[in-house]
Amino acid sequence: MTDMITTKAIRMQRTGGPEVMEYVDMELAPPGPGEARVRHEAIGLNFIDVYFRTGLYPQLLPAGLGVEGAGVVEAVGEGVSDVKVGDRVAYAARINGAYAEQRNIPASALLALPERIGFDTAAAMMLQGLTVQYLLHRTVALKAGDTILFHAAAGGVGLIACQWAKVMGVNLIGTVGSDEKAQLALANGAAHVINYNTENFVERVREITGGKGVSVVYDSIGKDTFTGSLDCLAPLGMMVSFGNASGPVPPFSLTELGSRGSLFITRPSLFSYASDRARLEEMAASLFGVVGSGEVQVEVRQRYKLADIVQAHRDLEGRKTSGSTIIVP
Ligand code: NDP
Repeated sequence: MTDMITTKAIRMQRTGGPEVMEYVDMELAPPGPGEARVRHEAIGLNFIDVYFRTGLYPQLLPAGLGVEGAGVVEAVGEGVSDVKVGDRVAYAARINGAYAEQRNIPASALLALPERIGFDTAAAMMLQGLTVQYLLHRTVALKAGDTILFHAAAGGVGLIACQWAKVMGVNLIGTVGSDEKAQLALANGAAHVINYNTENFVERVREITGGKGVSVVYDSIGKDTFTGSLDCLAPLGMMVSFGNASGPVPPFSLTELGSRGSLFITRPSLFSYASDRARLEEMAASLFGVVGSGEVQVEVRQRYKLADIVQAHRDLEGRKTSGSTIIVP
């Protein structure tokens, strides 16, 4: 029988700015039926954490934050047979509470972590890497020679997408907010990079594609880029709206799709793609494959202590980060 423990964790009593996150001692019950208790070695920092913190994505309060981590199983609840104490595991699951030294989580969300992948890399890539896996392989099955537009190409999701697209022979046109980030995206495999703070990205995409437009746009910026993104698509192109870093996309008329050439649109979420265990395992095997082989390298570009989570959020929202970021308990 496992005892109650005390763990350091981030809790919030209300939604708001970074300051609503409190670093506290929290009582953690033994894992319930079907759950495992994981001791985190590293925790992922993701933009979705900002949406939960601000209340853009609602949740019951008080609450924890964080949806991604990597570590070791410390205890298991009744009926858990797929993982055991001492296993190295990682996860990305829409269950807040990863910002903690230890947490309980359904064992069905955990993936065994191959020995060749370290905890830091795992925490940096589970959510962002699985996202790139489904975006490039499942939402649209891209093939060599395709040309796509990928916004925020120097971000966490972005740098993985630059590399993975290159491996697939896909020409990725990336957008970024500074010249330093442009260099980074190019160094990671982007075929072209546009600084959307100094250039008109719609005009540049038309120039780069000889007026044709791209077959797919991956837009995680939302409000600020949505309409311009539609304007970058070739007829019958696919708009993949998968985030809202600048704010949610306002309502729009479906005729906008028709007038631009019978466009398609989807608003996917990793957590729907990962909701089927067999599909999640396939996605993870694909990710572990390209990372294990070195074809995609996930670099931890920022690292913060759990106690410094407020600064980590300020930097992420302030567009000061690039690539992946981890939190260390
Ligand atoms: P990033 O590291 O990409 O950080 C967000 C980046 O967005 C910033 O660095 C900045 O890059 C850019 N940005 C543009 N406008 C703004 C703005 N107004 N405020 C803040 N940032 C802005 O984050 P992640 O890699 O964690 O996530 C990238 C996006 O993908 C997020 O929107 C996230 O929600 C989404 N996502 C969606 C998933 C899904 O399944 N639907 C899963 C995972 C992530 P720059 O300075 O270059 O403009």
